[in-house]
Amino acid sequence: MRKNIVAGNWKMNTTLQEGVKLATEVNEALKSRTPNCDVIIGVPFTHLASVKAVIGDNLGLSAENCADHEKGAYTGEVSAAMVASTGAKYVILGHSERRQYYGETSEILKVKVEMAFANGLTPIFCIGEVLEERENGTYFDVVKSQIEDALFGFSAEDFGKIVLAYEPVWAIGTGKTATADQAEEIHAFIRNTIAEKYGKEVAENTSILYGGSCKPSNAKELFAKPNVDGGLIGGAALDAESFMGIVDAF
Ligand code: PEP
Repeated sequence: MRKNIVAGNWKMNTTLQEGVKLATEVNEALKSRTPNCDVIIGVPFTHLASVKAVIGDNLGLSAENCADHEKGAYTGEVSAAMVASTGAKYVILGHSERRQYYGETSEILKVKVEMAFANGLTPIFCIGEVLEERENGTYFDVVKSQIEDALFGFSAEDFGKIVLAYEPVWAIGTGKTATADQAEEIHAFIRNTIAEKYGKEVAENTSILYGGSCKPSNAKELFAKPNVDGGLIGGAALDAESFMGIVDAF
């Protein structure tokens, strides 16, 4: 059975001290709950080890990226092995900000997913169209290509380890959320695309998260949709109370 997941993506926010405080607050808030979903926080590289030291096993830890090389002369890069050595179990890959600002192509992302697998990390792999593609109706093709090009070279067994996050770029950080019906339409399409390649069982077991201005006030409606298995949360993950409001939506 696929899992329900609420994952935070802090992006380039919080100093180390602020991040440890926020992680501590999230961890404390989780202690008084039995959430109906897995809860993960995605934090900057610099925070991983320190955050790991203050959270319990019921709060998953994710990096926001990893290198597309194993190790060596890549100044400033952080490898999947380094991420794993902090105790993190997840890595967000292919976020639209990485694709847009750092030129991450499907080719590069495929290698990053390989690096994640080689180091026992679960990729939280982001896909999603820009506004123009939504408006001209090509968004189905765009999302299908993003999945096919980066991920369909993997075996069914490996593909089954990936968490997908559908994040329409026009909804990220804009306050503009996809409606629950828009999310359901494309999530169902994504699941069908997976089923065509790997079969129904793999598709049914794949968690597909929604991301894009998800907040406590709209999470319940989004998560109620049969093909929406949770959320990847940016802005609202920077405050423990609002993040928990989304966790509580399950
Ligand atoms: C994100 O960047 O993954 C995201 C969903 O951001 P926000 O929730 O702020 O739109």
